[in-house]
Amino acid sequence: MAVLTAITPIEYLKGVGPQKADVLKKELQIFTIGDLLQLYPFRYVDRTQFFKIRQLDATLLGAQVLGRLIRLQEVGEKRAKRLVGLLKDETGTVELVWFQQIAWLKKTLQLNAVYVMYGKPTSFNGAISITHPEMELYQSSEKKIGNQTLQPVYTSTEKLKKFNLDTKGLQKLVAQALETVLPNWEDDLPADLRQKHHLIPAREAVLGIHFPTDQKAYETASRRLKFDELFWLQLRLLRNKQLNTKKYRGHRFTQVGDHFNTFFNTRLPFPLTGAQKRVMKEIRIDTNTGAQMNRLVQGDVGSGKTVVALMAMLLAIDNGFQACMMAPTEILATQHYHGVKELLGEDLCQVALLTGSTSTKERRRIHEQLEDGSLNILIGTHALIEDKVKFKNIGFVVIDEQHRFGVEQRAKLWRKNTIPPHMLVMTATPIPRTLAMTMYGDLDISAIDELPAGRKPIKTVHFFENQRLRAFGFMREEIQKGRQIYIVYPLIKESEKLDLLHLEAGLESLMREFPLPNYRISVVHGKMPVKDKNFEMQRFVKGETQIMVATTVIEVGVNVPNASVMIIENSERFGLSQLHQLRGRVGRGAEQSFCILMSSNKLSKDGRKRLETMVETNDGFKIAEVDLQLRGPGDISGTQQSGILEMKIANLSTDQALLTEVRETVIDIFLQDPELQLPEHQSLLQKLTHKGPAIAWDKIS
Ligand code: ADP
Ligand code: MG
Repeated sequence: MAVLTAITPIEYLKGVGPQKADVLKKELQIFTIGDLLQLYPFRYVDRTQFFKIRQLDATLLGAQVLGRLIRLQEVGEKRAKRLVGLLKDETGTVELVWFQQIAWLKKTLQLNAVYVMYGKPTSFNGAISITHPEMELYQSSEKKIGNQTLQPVYTSTEKLKKFNLDTKGLQKLVAQALETVLPNWEDDLPADLRQKHHLIPAREAVLGIHFPTDQKAYETASRRLKFDELFWLQLRLLRNKQLNTKKYRGHRFTQVGDHFNTFFNTRLPFPLTGAQKRVMKEIRIDTNTGAQMNRLVQGDVGSGKTVVALMAMLLAIDNGFQACMMAPTEILATQHYHGVKELLGEDLCQVALLTGSTSTKERRRIHEQLEDGSLNILIGTHALIEDKVKFKNIGFVVIDEQHRFGVEQRAKLWRKNTIPPHMLVMTATPIPRTLAMTMYGDLDISAIDELPAGRKPIKTVHFFENQRLRAFGFMREEIQKGRQIYIVYPLIKESEKLDLLHLEAGLESLMREFPLPNYRISVVHGKMPVKDKNFEMQRFVKGETQIMVATTVIEVGVNVPNASVMIIENSERFGLSQLHQLRGRVGRGAEQSFCILMSSNKLSKDGRKRLETMVETNDGFKIAEVDLQLRGPGDISGTQQSGILEMKIANLSTDQALLTEVRETVIDIFLQDPELQLPEHQSLLQKLTHKGPAIAWDKIS
């Protein structure tokens, strides 16, 4: 018989027929024996400890009882149908209830036999019962691996259970798989690496994660497997980065010319911050290597990313190229356009704006000037990526607020020149370092982690509903000082109508409680036509209105330096990064700014933590860390790349130290042996080239 290994299809494993194989594939994406062994237990049951029935109470997460099944009855009709059993020991009886698989259970459970029962006690009408307990005949001699005391519990589904693949069934299969393939299990990690990082052999780890003899065995196994998971991902990411650098030739920006110099010396209205200078230098170096630049710039709202992007674009122009800048919304694109024109002055270079509402005539002119090269900088929305938009010679692309664009949309910009343009991706939602290392592991990352001098940190307070009058009073004072105010209402996805109702009710109470003669209100919400939205925004921007009442459409980018107060209604409903983004709308001018978080009195634990964090800090990087802890990595990214973050065993929130260790190790490997040519790295190279996941890494910009 052929030797079975981790890559052998699952149907070859003893005990798995075509039917079971099929359901394993469909329900758990288990295709090979190795996949099955990567179905890690999500918890363990301590099977050394038995409870007496009298000791059972609803606070126990699970309990094991030895007892006799003295009754078994089907009761109820149709959907209320259930199977009820009674388990008895010398201290009392407890009711067992099953709602599913009744027929099968009736057939297999033996009345008056002694069972080892395991389940979660719950309290119902004062009596303890156990729903869907696991039942194992006491005398049955299970095949046991090692002298295990902790038993694995696996994820199962209804379908799997129909094929006897409940946690018990899966346990048996895993045991079978271990027995079959473990003797031939090879360790992919070089021995000296294992030694250096105190990792147990792979074989021991696989065994130990499924059937740990004790807590310590579980921990060493888990550490080894987490290391592996992070290691292979980082190795792949960094190798890809290296290959890309070779594969994608980039335009070489050799000189700093008139455009850049004139701007820097005569137009730039403020000194750059240290962080801005550093990032500018990084871009300078990147764009002169002959390889394509792929750089992510993270920087809090207001940290001054735009001017960095603008200077990079001027550098491109100095070297004979065109540049473009893409923003996720029309409002933002328009604002960038005006901002850039104001910074540049009229004469320095040709700039145009292209969005969904650009007129046909203007569009035609832009297309022509792009193709004959007379247009230097194009700013716009995703209208930029349309096929009709052709550049004579695009050399530099800026993407603002990258998380709003899909990978595919970004990839399209790549193809607008024979040699791909340099890419600068900017985000105001800082991502924790560990996430960045993984999500953008193949990008270079810059951080603008310093605000321009003279900015006063925004003061944030949290008010409950009964403090509303104080909030109104405060607003009144600020308006009398000539400031402007945002009031933001949450967007409830399920019902835009409800949003509008909330917003209108809020407005009404505002009018009633806030009798001040000389103020006007702008209202902006998602349901409005773009034209009206822009009109209302413009009124606020120009200072014709003092209060802007809005749903979250103002979240991104809007810049009104005179606005000094941000009031967020129902703030407990917003996510942390969104709250931080919203708060970033104020604090853009010289005045002290404020953020008032209004919330109801009822707060969930997470909701409270979010608001506390907002009150405590203005630092986007710190906020991102808390966000990661609260939500976990899957939710946080909200991007197409999030698939990369779905780890089987490692946790990007709790395993940060290990990830840093792994990342440094991998960087060292490439520093020492860039091509992975050394004999001790052959196993790495082999695994990389043979078992890479089917992700189009080079399209992630
Ligand atoms: P963001 O990083 O949020 O995109 P912006 O680029 O919009 O920030 O910059 C916010 C404001 O700060 C703008 O009005 C910009 O002109 C100003 N700014 C940028 N850099 C500096 C600086 N070094 N000193 C003073 N003001 C600056
Ligand atoms: Mg910006």
